[in-house]
Amino acid sequence: NFTAEVVPQAPEDPLFGLMRAYRADQDPKKVDLGIGAYRDNNAKPWVLPVVKKADEILRDDPELNHEYAPIAGITSFTSKAAELILGGVDSPAIKEKRVTSVQTISGTGAVHLGALFLARFYTGKKVYLSDPTWANHNQIFSNVGIPIAKYPYFSKETRGLDFEGMKAALHGAPEGSIILLHACAHNPTGVDPTLDQWKEIAEILRVKKHFPFFDTAYQGFASGDLMRDNAAVRYFVDQGFELVVAQSFAKNFGLYGERAGCFHVVTAPAPDAETTIARIASQLAILQRSEISNPPLYGARIASIVLNDPKLFAEWEDNLRTMSGRIISMRNALRAKLEELGTPGTWNHITDQIGMFSYTGLTEPQVLKIRSDFHIYMTKNGRISMAGLNTNNVDYVAKAIDKIVR
Ligand code: PLP
Repeated sequence: NFTAEVVPQAPEDPLFGLMRAYRADQDPKKVDLGIGAYRDNNAKPWVLPVVKKADEILRDDPELNHEYAPIAGITSFTSKAAELILGGVDSPAIKEKRVTSVQTISGTGAVHLGALFLARFYTGKKVYLSDPTWANHNQIFSNVGIPIAKYPYFSKETRGLDFEGMKAALHGAPEGSIILLHACAHNPTGVDPTLDQWKEIAEILRVKKHFPFFDTAYQGFASGDLMRDNAAVRYFVDQGFELVVAQSFAKNFGLYGERAGCFHVVTAPAPDAETTIARIASQLAILQRSEISNPPLYGARIASIVLNDPKLFAEWEDNLRTMSGRIISMRNALRAKLEELGTPGTWNHITDQIGMFSYTGLTEPQVLKIRSDFHIYMTKNGRISMAGLNTNNVDYVAKAIDKIVR
């Protein structure tokens, strides 16, 4: 039976442990910089106004029912999701019908379906993950039996990209390896390659025949510009790569709990690309059937209403600029405050980094001390969620960091 030897106690997910400790803290000055979800200036969850509108449209629809979605999801959603990440109907992949898309359980489900597909049809390869990466990547790929290797990514010295280390590792990886790339707003570091660096990365992948696996969880949320945040994916597609994309709508629609996501396969240009795509779609459908049968409808319906209506789409872009703009203004405020205080070290990385997170460079002992002395909660690697900062607490956080690093 299930003795402790057979089923040992698993360690608690560090992020959820952090959230629990935060909730239990009674200090009124406490600050949550652990959460990976957007908060408004009052530290409250924000339902996007455009999502509220879409929700009303959905509820007013007399035809609405609760039948199963098709196995691959609702196509009004998946086709627009593909256009969004690939840059519209003029994408060569879309024009040449070299894309197949499957609706998934948000980004996590998309990474999982992609990993499962590769475990089945791209066998004997390792996946190379950035060091560090979103912790779940390790578990998802291990769960389907794909061996994991790492490539250097973050430079502790510059708190920016370790580009030389990354390139050397990609060069050194066995031919045909799977390379997991964060499309934008790298989690946890907030450090992205420049477009020129992406071009060099693409060249290495081409020479080494590596397989690009893009994970995109922050399109539009990072810079406020949907086309800027998909530039890396578009570049790779323009170069004719065969690739896959795991796409989440949790952050950019604020639909975290509704689990709206998509997995896309793009095949290389070829005369028989359409039949290749059909074969791939048929296999993905079988995998999806045994995993979840049919994806959930609500979040995908909301996103679909917005993505298919030009007026609502424009409003969504406005909402994206509100979120990314508030986060960027918090980056500026935190850096300015630290520089004003003369806090030892350099703080340009706070504004150089992009998206939800910043790797502050605080060490684990400093993270533990700022928690016990100032009730400020962040993950042990010194990552802070910029969304946890607001005009009411940014001075307090800056002063606490100042005290801690001195
Ligand atoms: N990939 C990355 C890099 C992420 O940061 C996240 C969310 O934090 C996800 C995927 C997937 O999130 P979800 O399953 O909530 O869409």
